[in-house]
Amino acid sequence: EGAPEVVGLSPSLEGGISQGEVQFAKMFINNEWHESTSGKKFATYNPSTLEQICEVEEGDKPDVDKAVEAAHAAFQRGSPWRRLDALNRGRLLHQLADLVERDRAVLATLETMDTGKPFLHAFFIDLEGCIKTLRYFAGWADKIQGRTIPTDDNVVCFTRHEPIGVCGAITPWNFPLLMLVWKLAPALCCGNTIVVKPAEQTPLTALYLGSLIKEVGFPPGVVNIVPGFGPTVGAAMSSHPRISKIAFTGSIEVGKLVKEAASRSNLKRVTLELGGKNPCIVCADADLDLAVECAHQGIFFNQGQCCTAASRVFVEEQVYPEFVRRSVERARKRPVGDPFDARTEHGPQIDQNQFDKILSLIESGKKEGVKLECGSSGMEDRGLVIKPTFFLRVSDPRYLVRGAIFGPVQPILKFKTIEEVIRRANSLEYGLHGGCFSRRTWDKAPEAGFPAWKSGTVWINCYNAIYAQAPFGGFKMSGNGRELGEYALSEYTEVKTVTIKLDDKDP
Ligand code: NAD
Repeated sequence: EGAPEVVGLSPSLEGGISQGEVQFAKMFINNEWHESTSGKKFATYNPSTLEQICEVEEGDKPDVDKAVEAAHAAFQRGSPWRRLDALNRGRLLHQLADLVERDRAVLATLETMDTGKPFLHAFFIDLEGCIKTLRYFAGWADKIQGRTIPTDDNVVCFTRHEPIGVCGAITPWNFPLLMLVWKLAPALCCGNTIVVKPAEQTPLTALYLGSLIKEVGFPPGVVNIVPGFGPTVGAAMSSHPRISKIAFTGSIEVGKLVKEAASRSNLKRVTLELGGKNPCIVCADADLDLAVECAHQGIFFNQGQCCTAASRVFVEEQVYPEFVRRSVERARKRPVGDPFDARTEHGPQIDQNQFDKILSLIESGKKEGVKLECGSSGMEDRGLVIKPTFFLRVSDPRYLVRGAIFGPVQPILKFKTIEEVIRRANSLEYGLHGGCFSRRTWDKAPEAGFPAWKSGTVWINCYNAIYAQAPFGGFKMSGNGRELGEYALSEYTEVKTVTIKLDDKDP
């Protein structure tokens, strides 16, 4: 969590790039760089300086059609991609991981320019996650296998786990490259082809990845990247009759649109990673320093723009005042500033829309509870920075406690009993993640944790512990399906049952 200590690795931008040197801003189809059919481009901005970084080709439906055509051709039986054996499919993914590692500083620089997140976070957290995810799924490529199934008949019955076909990935702006790799790595490992639409705020790392896809030598059409907007490119993908699966990360509202469009078109498979309002429960017997640090990073990491954010903290009443005191003290020390400064833990929000939305929720929140603003001095006035903010004395029905803010805003609430806090934690339509801090892990915390919670992940005495090996996803309206881990493979494969009748004369 946060920027880990830098050991043996230089966090400098040596080998990185500077603004104005963006190489890849066209759309990537069939391993070639294309201009948009319409001739339109759109600008992408640095939320820290508010300057335009560059213009990117703006895709639309005809470009999606071209990309899908290329992905289909690449998936045809007998194509170089389909003829490639599974071991070598895995090798290509490993080679892609090598190139991401080689260009890690460049990718982290692009991610920081486009999102405003601290460079060290991009370098050590986002890029680390990308590399590990690529390697993890590279290892699966030749281990995807079906089962033999005993029946009550004289047959050989077995299953094959086959690729689905052309997959689509629609990704958000909070972890642009990581959320893409979470989709691309399992899709390719299983032998699919893919069309990607990066978020319009942050298209640059996806396009750079396109150049690495080509350099590695993936056959043309296996990966295609169409930058553009949701209602055009995203909608064309969700409703495309020749895309067989969509993986989406973003808001619940758009998740519903994607699923509706999928239903109306070809009933394509859909996996959704949506929002959360994640409870973090701190029991009176918790290691308070640990709980404070985890709850702090849990909400303020990535400026609060995480679906995993610890956006509802419940603290047992005996330790509530002390927890609040230490949380405020910790947040006051959080260096807010220039994302390229190695000391910075906290940068700007992604864009003016999000900035205005969060500020207005903070403003209306003042009527709901007591506001405490923290954050150290720095460049608060530059870019779209919002300082870490807590709300106290706010009740559960208030928007601050039940609504999505997606910013550095944490309500800290009191509880008396475990039964009560679990009921409150489970009371929302969300069910993505949750954390519990207690020293008595084997009695109190499990009761508060895995058996009772309605959420896809429960973290006990840790927070944001995310691994390529472990599934990630939500209960209830936080999503459908799972990313990461072995579970992700089933989201990118179809099961075919093969039954062969044996000669009845055979014993
Ligand atoms: P969004 O859901 O609008 O965007 C996510 C992706 O969907 C983007 O690539 C966008 O272009 C695309 N999209 C938009 N409209 C579409 C459509 N009609 N059809 C298909 N694709 C479409 O999210 P946002 O505007 O970036 O952020 C709004 C809210 O979403 C945030 O405040 C936050 O609550 C939530 N969000 C959640 C996550 C997450 O990780 N779960 C990430 C980003 C945003």
